[in-house]
Amino acid sequence: MKAVVFDGAGSVRVTDVPKPTILDSKDALVRITHSSICGSDLNILRGKIVLEENAVMGHEGVGIVEEVGPAVTRTRVGDKVVIPYSIQCGECENCRKGLVVFCENGGMLGHGKQWGDFGGTQAEYLRIPFADANLHQVPESATEEQVLFVSDILCTGYQACEYGGIEPGDFVTVFGAGPVGLCAVATAKLFGPRRIVSVDLADYRLVTAERLGADRVLNPERLNVVEEIKKLTNGKGTDVAIEAVGSVETFNWSFESVRSGGRISIVGVFPFEKVGISLRDMLRRNLQMRAGRANLIHMERIISLIEGGKLDLTPLITHRMSLSDAAKAYEIFAGRSENVLKIILAP
Ligand SMILES: [Zn+2]
Ligand SMILES: [Zn+2]
Repeated sequence: MKAVVFDGAGSVRVTDVPKPTILDSKDALVRITHSSICGSDLNILRGKIVLEENAVMGHEGVGIVEEVGPAVTRTRVGDKVVIPYSIQCGECENCRKGLVVFCENGGMLGHGKQWGDFGGTQAEYLRIPFADANLHQVPESATEEQVLFVSDILCTGYQACEYGGIEPGDFVTVFGAGPVGLCAVATAKLFGPRRIVSVDLADYRLVTAERLGADRVLNPERLNVVEEIKKLTNGKGTDVAIEAVGSVETFNWSFESVRSGGRISIVGVFPFEKVGISLRDMLRRNLQMRAGRANLIHMERIISLIEGGKLDLTPLITHRMSLSDAAKAYEIFAGRSENVLKIILAP
């Protein structure tokens, strides 16, 4: 079958690899109809995440179940399903505690041997272990494109809002209007804030932020973001700051713009270097801070919000390309050219 593999030197290529088969009685074999490229895929290309050569890439995907093992009961052949970026068994201690992203028998799709060697979604087929615990049905009334981002970035954005503890009436600022930041803007609305502010250097991304529900957009190239947020909040600061970039500068802005008693939620992937903060300030200002990659316990909830028309992230889709053109797609995505936000790959 065709698959996108890491070439070991900062780029990808499309090649033929063996089609996966059912290996365990709880497996399902899924024919991928849609996958997408994530910022984490670029981290692999840039060496921030170590991946072996020829490993299949991709952890966001939707597909149709083609075959199931004898112990699979809930998932049926022909089901249209959303695939989570992280595999869970549903039975280990961490899974039972709801910490499914730390499943003792799981791992991450598209991240090679270090993360379970499960293969990736940027391929024609994918074996999904513990199928019943991982695969989520696509509702009749939703399209594949509408649910695709539930795999990762939509759950990540939703969790960023949850970790920010947004309450009705809160002033919310989202730093970064990349795909995850935009998902945070769209999901923040569900918590009933009085205002959502989106901050980014790229105006085309801010346009999409407005379309997805941002009441105000700020470009740090043109103004002092912290001062502007203070101005918009009568000098108090934002109730919730969501950091969706992963840079020292945006982290500092989050810290400086949040009000006393406010909350900082971190979802940006930071470099290896440590970021300094003043714990003295944190204590004196009663700040709360929480960070985390998506724990995937809200997939059903998010799918039902999409089904109910309360959440639509299809404006993120700027490119639809063939899996065969993956190398070109990665080039566009990495270069942030053509006003790219999300690229969908279809076999
Ligand atoms: Zn991702
Ligand atoms: Zn588990």
